[in-house]
Amino acid sequence: MKTVEEQGEVTSGELAMMAGVKMPTAVEVVKKLEEMELVYRKPWGPIKLTEKGIRVAERIVFRHRIIETYLSKFLELDNENACCQASLMEEIDDTVVYAMCSKLGHPCECVHGRRIPHFSHEGGRV
Ligand SMILES: [Zn+2]
Ligand SMILES: [Zn+2]
Repeated sequence: MKTVEEQGEVTSGELAMMAGVKMPTAVEVVKKLEEMELVYRKPWGPIKLTEKGIRVAERIVFRHRIIETYLSKFLELDNENACCQASLMEEIDDTVVYAMCSKLGHPCECVHGRRIPHFSHEGGRV
């Protein structure tokens, strides 16, 4: 069974952030995301993001990947630590994340080479 994570769009950590559960198991995350109508799956089919799920994912993915890239570039944290610390900074205001994004020059990719969507603020690439 293919998950959204395996399709390369969203990482397991980002899915956990969408579900709002701390230190969850993969099964719990998917169950929670289904309850929230952020993902769906047909029997034996892959897990897919719903329309609502895509919107929620883009914001989380944008924030997470900008923060980790900022921590890596300006504070020289290694990628793994930057990713981990970014997960702990979920609560910071969007305006801070937008400022980080501008400082970084609106990067297209995070430190892991994953796509960064800039749907949510002006000046960014889409
Ligand atoms: Zn990344
Ligand atoms: Zn941007």
